[in-house]
Amino acid sequence: MARKVEQRLSFCLAHQDRPTDTRCAACLKPICEECTLTTEEGKFCGNDCYEKRLKSNERVRVLKEEEERERGPRMMRMLMGWALKILFLVALYFVYQHLPVTWHKWLNKSFAGLWKTVTGAFK
Ligand SMILES: [Zn+2]
Ligand SMILES: [Zn+2]
Repeated sequence: MARKVEQRLSFCLAHQDRPTDTRCAACLKPICEECTLTTEEGKFCGNDCYEKRLKSNERVRVLKEEEERERGPRMMRMLMGWALKILFLVALYFVYQHLPVTWHKWLNKSFAGLWKTVTGAFK
């Protein structure tokens, strides 16, 4: 049991006689209380690592913003796709309405025949 604790504990790099289980959030160097720079981003071994973290946060933020910008056009494309489908159906309906009556009769007969075949298959 004691060995486990020993393994877990590291010694501060700057103060080799001080055991610590705190590590820098950026470079993972063991740091003692005195060497720890506590920030809203976590604990760091120094300003360099803190700034490194801030910079990487900034990169992540920029990437997220780019993704957000991409999402708008993608939604628009999807909506446009649906609008086109609906427009196509509406156009089809209008075309049907403007067909000569004889065509209607013929179409209705063909559909009735098709419907009978479909329903008949389940009887
Ligand atoms: Zn560090
Ligand atoms: Zn230290």
